[in-house]
Amino acid sequence: MPRKPKPRRRTPLTLPALQREIAKTFLKRDRRRGLMGTFGWFVEEVGELSTALREERPGSEAQAAEFADCLAWLASLANLCGVDLSRAVARKYAGGCSRCRRQPCRCRTKK
Ligand SMILES: [Zn+2]
Repeated sequence: MPRKPKPRRRTPLTLPALQREIAKTFLKRDRRRGLMGTFGWFVEEVGELSTALREERPGSEAQAAEFADCLAWLASLANLCGVDLSRAVARKYAGGCSRCRRQPCRCRTKK
C-alpha cells in the first residue's frame, strides 16, 4: 500500500540532510536506472536551468525550481557514487577559492 504523502517541508535543509532525503526518496530507483542513465537526467535538468535562466524572471519560483532539480539530481549522482557532497564541497570550497584559497578569488580567468 502506498504511503501517505508527507507535507512539504518549508524550513531550510542542510546539504547533508538534502542528500539523505534524496537517497531515501530516489536511491532505489536511481540504482535501477544506473549511473549514466541518472547522469542523463541530470544533464537534462541543467538544460532546463539554462532555459529558465534565459526566459524566467531572476529569482522567480520557476527559476528556483530548476535550481532545485539540478541539485537533487546532483545529489542522486553523488549517492550512486558514494560521495558525501557536503564533505566534498567543504574540502574544495570552504574558506575560499579552491585554487588561490582567497575570498574573493583572485585567479586570472578568461571572460
Ligand atoms: Zn582563485
